Amino acid sequence: MSGPVYVVVGAGHAGAAAIAAMRTAGFAGRIVLIGEVPHAPYERPPLSKEVLLSPKAVQLPIYPDNYYEAHNVECHFGTCVEHIDSVVRQLVFADGEVLSYDKLLLTTGSRARRYPLLDALGEGVHLLRTLEDSWGLQKELRPGRHLLVVGGGIIGLEVAASAATLGLTVTVLERAPRLMTRGVPVPLADTLRGLHEQHGVKFELSVELSEAVRGADGKFHLRAADGRVFEGDAILYGVGVQVNDELARTAGVTIQDGVLVDELCRTSVPEIFAAGDIARQYQPFVGATVRQETWANAMHQGSCAGQAMVTGKGSAPEVPWYWTDQYGVNFQVAGKYEAGEWITRGDVSSGKYMLFGLTDGCVIGAVAINNGRDMKLAKLMISAEAKPDREALCDLSVDLRKLKTGAVTTAG
Ligand code: NAP
Repeated sequence: MSGPVYVVVGAGHAGAAAIAAMRTAGFAGRIVLIGEVPHAPYERPPLSKEVLLSPKAVQLPIYPDNYYEAHNVECHFGTCVEHIDSVVRQLVFADGEVLSYDKLLLTTGSRARRYPLLDALGEGVHLLRTLEDSWGLQKELRPGRHLLVVGGGIIGLEVAASAATLGLTVTVLERAPRLMTRGVPVPLADTLRGLHEQHGVKFELSVELSEAVRGADGKFHLRAADGRVFEGDAILYGVGVQVNDELARTAGVTIQDGVLVDELCRTSVPEIFAAGDIARQYQPFVGATVRQETWANAMHQGSCAGQAMVTGKGSAPEVPWYWTDQYGVNFQVAGKYEAGEWITRGDVSSGKYMLFGLTDGCVIGAVAINNGRDMKLAKLMISAEAKPDREALCDLSVDLRKLKTGAVTTAG
């Protein structure tokens, strides 16, 4: 295929979204998709849920097998790029081969942060980032066993829900004095904790591990600095991620906990773009640059980058948003996590309701519990900086669509 060569390094959600956007935008040149893992891009959200609960029933590929050929995308999966020479616009592979590019998109994502104290225990200790990780963990999840989950973040809680559903005893050990410190508003953290406790999950907070050993009986013994000891048959840890920025560094792009990009996902080096977990971009709703580790951001930014590489135009940033499913309950979280107050819309006992975060009367965050439909409107309210009448917002008989403008609105 002749014409310009656009290369995407990183075959995850952002890379997958980018190649589709390039073709949709009319790019007729050569597209090369390179991934270090030996798989075509696949969906990660099921790894902590469906793959653990019913592995045989899960379909993970983002696109059907014939997609790449049908869209003239040249794929190199299981291939490692070692170096980027941004002066001559070439990628250098581990075997010394080179590939010239006209434009390059980096979607190399992030990897699970390692916990050496636990890694040293060897077999029986798991983290969860890839399909292989999920398969490995799934084999451990047998009813009656005791799983120690280290890290009460999104991975920890989703795996705890799956393990408890499968009949394991689960104890979650979290370093902070509350759960999900980085990812949810306080009222939702409390709700999640209550839901897990209803399913028998135990929580140990403010746990700083100081010692980890495996006894002769095969059981793991974890000791906290304050003397608490926890015993289990297997360990899963999820203590955050580390950005895969090593390749980007070789290109000389500006890095500040992530590759700094502009609104079109352009890095500081001409013709190099970045998107997904690796990218740090100005977020108007947050009022600062942020790096987002969500499925929604990878899809949106990847798509924006692909479009921008072809047309020089992109789509406006979205309100930060993600979802999590635990025990069959769908939680969606948007906007900021810290608000002056959180108010409830709907009947909590029905299991379907919303939480709205207000600061100075302005909607700055929202949580939907089994209520994805209203989340769309809540995101519009956040982006419009809506200041709805408080009573009207709590009143289910008032249509949310009437409250989504930037003006102070009332029930009338
Ligand atoms: P996370 O959500 O950032 O949570 C990590 C938790 O572990 C934090 O609460 C952290 O507390 C705690 N922690 C850190 N060091 C610890 C230690 N030594 N002992 C005990 N607790 C410790 O990260 P994650 O759960 O590992 O998830 C990683 C990534 O997976 C996410 O960023 C996201 O990209 C992805 N993911 C997303 C979804 C979704 O969107 N539904 C689902 C699964 C995974 P501190 O805050 O005190 O450090």
